[in-house]
Amino acid sequence: MENSTEPLVSSVASKDAERLWLECLALIQQQIASQSYKTWFEPIKAINFESNELSVQVPSQFFYEWLEEHYYVLIKNTLARVVGGDARLTYVVIPPVEDGVSDTISSVQPLSIHAQAVEPLSNKSFVASPSIPKADNLQPVKTYLNPRYTFNNFIKGDSNQLARAAALAVGNNPGGTSFNPLVLYGGTGLGKTHLIQAIGNYALENGKAKRVCYVSSEKFTIDFVDAIGADTMRDFSNYYRSMDLLIVDDIQFFSGKEKTQDSFFHTFNTLHQEGKQIVLSSDKPPKELRGLDERLISRFQWGLTADIQPPDLETRTAILRKKSEDDRIDVPQEVLDFIAANVTSNIRELEGCLISLLAKASLENREINIDLARDVLRLVVSDVRSPINVEEIQRIVAEFFDLPADLLRAKTRKQEIVNARQIAMYIAKEMTNCSLKTIGLHFGGRDHSTVIHAYQSVEDQLKLDSKYRDTLQSIKRKIENAIR
Ligand code: ADP
Ligand code: MG
Repeated sequence: MENSTEPLVSSVASKDAERLWLECLALIQQQIASQSYKTWFEPIKAINFESNELSVQVPSQFFYEWLEEHYYVLIKNTLARVVGGDARLTYVVIPPVEDGVSDTISSVQPLSIHAQAVEPLSNKSFVASPSIPKADNLQPVKTYLNPRYTFNNFIKGDSNQLARAAALAVGNNPGGTSFNPLVLYGGTGLGKTHLIQAIGNYALENGKAKRVCYVSSEKFTIDFVDAIGADTMRDFSNYYRSMDLLIVDDIQFFSGKEKTQDSFFHTFNTLHQEGKQIVLSSDKPPKELRGLDERLISRFQWGLTADIQPPDLETRTAILRKKSEDDRIDVPQEVLDFIAANVTSNIRELEGCLISLLAKASLENREINIDLARDVLRLVVSDVRSPINVEEIQRIVAEFFDLPADLLRAKTRKQEIVNARQIAMYIAKEMTNCSLKTIGLHFGGRDHSTVIHAYQSVEDQLKLDSKYRDTLQSIKRKIENAIR
């Protein structure tokens, strides 16, 4: 604490804090995935322990909110085990030095937990780069952003939860979170370009950044090669290094292009040092990228790497509903369900089907219904499946276990029936679009929490018991055959 006359905390209190927090970390580490642990717990520092209150430092408000939303119970229980039942935790938000953009330090109070005012632990340092021209002779930016890509029309789902939340945090405070760079990765057509451009559109619209540029790695490469040819390397470097927010799409295409990578490396360093935001997308996690300089890969891992997975059924249906609403076309829900059930791995394809459906309806002057959808889907999907409903699932599961189907809906708690009922509920959740509440209603008016419990218990057994996994697979195959 060179910059304050009084010490922030006594060294005894901070030693205790460190020791207690280390004990907590050891317990937490056993209970969550190692990537989650690395992302959300390693950056936390214990700073004080006094009157049963442990203060920890987190790098951003978003970070704190994420912990509260996802790890509240885990942290609370761990703290109770290590310190005692009435222990309290205080979060103190202190942005890391190298990203220092905001001077403000804030304490936040989760639920009943007390907060205390804490002074800055360190001063941020800005490194001025001599190579960047003054603001008034900067070349104007062409953003290359497509205004269609916004957060508003990006549907949230389990498959993109972290990526979307981190993108929003970065859009709100470019360069000011610990997510620098933010790297989003995932398969093709899953929304990477949409999400990284949404950051740019959002930051510009809300005055969070002035100079924003979206560029594909191919365009960066072409610009670089042109600049060499035209002897304008200085302009090229100055241009990209003058951004507040630089978004580079599909960095896997830098692979094997050593000179371009070298130039990008220097651009990256300059921007990062200045607290400017870098956002990247890739088809793989950075450490699996081949043909990329180790120095680059290690820098890509400085911030946050978040994946986008293929969307689940619910998200696919929500995306289709949103698109059809945006286009003001009335598509019956059952048609949307039908398309969502059949196009599973790629959102671009999902959109493509909806567009083909509308085109076919208007060209052939046909009604938008399941038959028309089936005709369109045949061109895209090799085996088109009909939608399945809960009764049908109950019928097949009951038949498999040689039980009358109405027992699944009855009150009986005999073990073999409970087992079959739980499996049927699980499959209903996986294979239909019904809400938990609706599924519960189909099973003799049970509560949605019963369905959650059933789902959890099937998931648990699937993890432990390979015979159980086989059983579930056979049942699912029977259902799939029935809807073909
Ligand atoms: P990628 O860059 O990962 O290949 P894109 O960002 O180009 O994928 O997405 C493909 C299409 O799917 C785009 O039209 C995009 O708007 C749409 N899309 C992807 N994810 C979502 C989502 N969660 N909500 C709404 N539309 C989405
Ligand atoms: Mg893309």
